Order: sequence, then structure tokens, then C-alpha cells
Amino acid sequence: MADVDYVVVGLGALGSAAAWHLAARGHSVVGLEQFELGHSRGASHDTSRILRHSYHTPAYVRLTCEAYDDWAHLEDESGEQLVTTVGGLDLFPPDCAISPVDYVASLREVGIEFEELDVAEIRRRWPVFDPPRGTQGLFQSRGSIVPAARGTAAMQRLAIAHGATLLGSTAVTGVEDHGSHLAVETVDASYTCRAVVVCADAWTNRVLARLAVEIPLAVTLEQPTYFQPTDPGPFADMPLWIWMDEPSYYGFPCYGESTIKAAQDCGGPVVDPDRRTSDPDPDMLRRLATFVGSFLPGSGRPVRSLRCQYTLTPDRDFVLAPVPGHPSVVVGLGAAHGFKFAPTFGRLLAELATVGTTTTDLTPYRLDRPALTDPAYQAHWLV
Ligand SMILES: Cc1cc2nc3c(=O)[nH]c(=O)nc-3n(C[C@H](O)[C@H](O)[C@H](O)COP(=O)(O)OP(=O)(O)OC[C@H]3O[C@@H](n4cnc5c(N)ncnc54)[C@H](O)[C@@H]3O)c2cc1C
Repeated sequence: MADVDYVVVGLGALGSAAAWHLAARGHSVVGLEQFELGHSRGASHDTSRILRHSYHTPAYVRLTCEAYDDWAHLEDESGEQLVTTVGGLDLFPPDCAISPVDYVASLREVGIEFEELDVAEIRRRWPVFDPPRGTQGLFQSRGSIVPAARGTAAMQRLAIAHGATLLGSTAVTGVEDHGSHLAVETVDASYTCRAVVVCADAWTNRVLARLAVEIPLAVTLEQPTYFQPTDPGPFADMPLWIWMDEPSYYGFPCYGESTIKAAQDCGGPVVDPDRRTSDPDPDMLRRLATFVGSFLPGSGRPVRSLRCQYTLTPDRDFVLAPVPGHPSVVVGLGAAHGFKFAPTFGRLLAELATVGTTTTDLTPYRLDRPALTDPAYQAHWLV
């Protein structure tokens, strides 16, 4: 039995951020991770993630402003350069499934600078792109890349520097609420604490099982692929891009190597995170290579693919909230677009766990919202 102020369950990007922020507030913190730290079976490994302002609601755009500030704070504290600004281009083909109207209105309302580009201007600036006629481009110069594994490791280092104990290969088998305190069980230890922050993503429901809460989550197995252009020069200068249609694709310029990365958003099968394969799927690769070959001619041959889990809520909004009836159990879940917000979520989860209120309105991310409680709610993952 060990007494500690706070226990964080799961040490991907969100749990590492929460451990960092809790420890930085001067609390004793234990972080527990079922696999080794830095493993590749969850959602926070590999090279790059997109950090961008463009979103479909003003509230999301405002949250991205916090994300940029919190990444800057992480860079300051860690002494590491983590944000690489390359520009971001959202591409809306004719009759696309995702309308540009909400994006434009949301960016305008919050006062974020952007440019609207037609196909001729897109091709003039970045001759590597070959979008179909009528495609509308939305360009934000602040579109950036943040490093997945390296950013997560930086937050773990800061958590440890502030006194947190982070344990890998330590699976949590249950969380119990005893009113005056909580008990967090592992195979060979038990921790009592004031509050628990659960950042277990695909495994969230298993960690919460003893609290009788079940979030309607779908875990899909995604597959980013790296392509090797014969002449990487022009691909190093392109912005990151998102194809705003169904299917939706996205990609990155060269980042630390002479390859470009691309993937389909929500393109993989629903899986059980404990039984899924790590092998590449040839059909998913073929689909992606066909799209990339036509939109980015010259992007070259695929050289490697990897798997990564999306954990999706039915409305694709986050969970940043206490469990109803258990105010000292706080859940953080990124709904498969949460990496950009990891340093922000770490701060907000620390606020929730320590004082129960936050400086940002987290009402849309409550666990008792209809998307998570109404069985008739129709899931929609495109945003
Ligand atoms: C291919 C891909 C591309 C993405 N692109 C972007 C992007 O461009 N921009 C963006 O913002 N987001 C993006 N995301 C989403 C983002 O990466 C995730 O939202 C984020 O990394 C989730 O972090 P996490 O810490 O919640 O989850 P994870 O990294 O999965 O961490 C959860 C951890 O909890 C641990 N755990 C679970 N159960 C237990 C237990 N019982 N005991 C102990 N530990 C446990 C797991 O082992 C795991 O390490 C992408 C995701 C993928 C897969």
C-alpha cells in the first residue's frame, strides 16, 4: 500500500502531460503504464502530428490558441524545439463531405489569419500538388508539425524532473472509489490517492470497469505510410495538407528524413486493442497510394507503413471530465485528434483533479453529454 497525492493511469501523450502538470504543481504523483514507456501499441508513437488552428467551431479554434501557447511553454520548460511551422493547407474538393463554410467562419470569428486559394494559386505556390479543378484551399501560415514520440518523452522527462515516479510495465487492474480516498490496483501493488487521472485511451473502459461506467468508444487501427520521392526537394517545401472529403486523407512534408508521410483519417477497421495485428494492411496501402499518386504525383514509392490506434467517441469530441458520481476520477481522451492538445489537456486535467474547476469551459467534453449517453446517437467521425 502506498500513499500518493495523484495517480495517472496511462503514459501516452495525455497521461505524460497530466503527470508533468500535476508534479509541477508540487504534488506527489505516480504514473502507471501497462507497457514500456515509449511503446508503439497505443496512439502517441512515431514521428509527427498536426498542430493547426483550422477547426469547424470557434470553440475548437480558441482551444487551438491554448494549444500553441502550451506547446511554447513545453518548449521553454524542456529546452527542446518541438514545433516546426510549415504552413497548413485544407483542401475542399467540389461537393466535398466536409464544408469549408464552418471552417472559414470559425477562423474569422476567432481572428486567425488565413488565405483562400484557388487551384491555380495552389499549383503556383506548390507545384507538387495536383488537386482537381474547383478545389478550394484554406491556407494558414501557422500550420505546424509536433513530434509524437519525442514530445511525449519530453513531457515524461519534465514529470520526472518535478518529482513524479513513472512506472512502465505496470498494468492497472482496477480503480476503486472509497469516498475519502481512491485505490488504484496493479498486479503487485495498491496505491491510495486523492484523485486518479485516467488517460488510457483505447483501454479506458477496462480501467473504469469497477466504477460501472462504459463510454461508447470505437477503436480503429490506422495506417500511416511513408513515401520516398525521387526528388525530395519540392516535397520539403510543401505545407502539411488535409483532404476534407470522405474518404479524408492528410499528409506531411519531409520531416527529419527525405520521405513524406500520408494516411487516411478513420480508414482502418474497428479492433480490440489487445488482439489487433501490427502488420501493415495491403488494401489500405493500395487505397492510400492511389490517392497520393494522383494528388501528389512524384511522391514516389511507399517505403514503410505502421499501425496506430484511433479511439473515437461518437461525436469525435474529447472527454475531459470527472466520472459522474466519482468526482475524483478524471478522464482525458483525445478522440483521435488530441495530440496537438496534449500539453493543454495535461494542464486542464491537472486543474480538474486538483481543484475541480478549469480556466477553460469543458462542458462539451463531459461524460454525461447525449453523444455518450443516448444509445440512438448516430456516430459521425468526419469533422
Ligand atoms: C495515425 C494517427 C495519426 C494521428 N494524427 C494526429 C494529428 O495529426 N494531430 C493530433 O492532434 N492528433 C493526432 N492523432 C491522435 C493523437 O495521436 C491521440 O489522440 C493521442 O496520441 C492519444 O494520446 P493518449 O495518451 O490518450 O493515448 P495513448 O498514447 O494510447 O496512451 C494511452 C496509454 O494508456 C496505457 N494504458 C491503457 N490501459 C492501461 C492500464 N490498465 N494500466 C496502465 N496503462 C494503461 C496504454 O498502454 C497507453 O500507453 C493521431 C493518432 C493516430 C493513431
